[in-house]
Order: sequence, then structure tokens, then C-alpha cells
Amino acid sequence: MILPILRWPDPILSQPCAPAVLSADLRALAGDMFETMYAAPGRGLAAPQVGRPVRLFVMDVGWKEGAPSPVVAVNPEILWFSDTRLVGPEGCLSIPGPTTMVARAEAVRMRWSDLDGVAYEELLTGLAAICAQHEYDHLDGVLTLDRLSPEARALAEAEVVA
Ligand code: ZN
Repeated sequence: MILPILRWPDPILSQPCAPAVLSADLRALAGDMFETMYAAPGRGLAAPQVGRPVRLFVMDVGWKEGAPSPVVAVNPEILWFSDTRLVGPEGCLSIPGPTTMVARAEAVRMRWSDLDGVAYEELLTGLAAICAQHEYDHLDGVLTLDRLSPEARALAEAEVVA
């Protein structure tokens, strides 16, 4: 089921999320989030963006290029950020309109669980690292706009499609 995506400045997007609890409900939510993300179309979607403030996100950084790599991250933790940072363009399904230039670590080590409780720990690089940091931010109630200078934020806010 395709779910409505909340848009900034909905207050749910700016609140820290509660730990996710494995359940049939969570599994159904993750399935709906993939469907919603692919339809949008996007490469990542966090549960608070569909009005569920729990620590869950889905991402698939390669599907648009024909190389799907779907990931369900339940209660992710970023254990390490590289010192090397890159500034690149990011869009957000909750902030239609502007593409913002956000500084991110080039690589991160992330630990997470899947819907069966199986734990993963991986070094993420490239687009996966960027996407994971963007979605992880959502779980802490942080948006791309919050990572901009006041001047850049004002410009980006003016570009948001009402
Ligand atoms: Zn986003």
C-alpha cells in the first residue's frame, strides 16, 4: 500500500523516533514503505516520513540504475564516520523542490537488524553511505535543511514546492 508522505514542516519530521519493535505490524510497515519509496520515486524512506516515529528506514540506492539492493534497517546505529567529508546534492521526499548541498562523511560503519532480528554490520561507501546518513538523520528528527547554513537554508526553504 502506498502511504502518504509527510512534508516539512510537519512536526513529526522533527522529533526523535522511538526504538522499533519487531512485529508483523513492523514487517507490513516496511513493505508499504518500499512500495511508497519506489512509487515516489526515491532511494530511501524513513518511517517518520510516513507518520510512524520509530527507528526504521528502507533504502535501495541502485534500483534506478537497474541494480536493486534493498535494505531494511531496524534500529540502525552508525558506529563510525570517516573523517573525509564530501559535499553533494540531496533531495528529500518530504521536502519537494530544492536539492540541497549537504556535507556527509564519505564512509560510515553501520549496524542494524533486519525484520527477522538478524544483525548486520557493514562499511558503507559512496551513495549507500550518503543515503544511510540521510535516512538515519530522519530517525533523530534531523532534516537536510537543519544541516545548512542559515543563508543556504533560507534559499532552500524559498524553493519548497507548496
Ligand atoms: Zn529525507
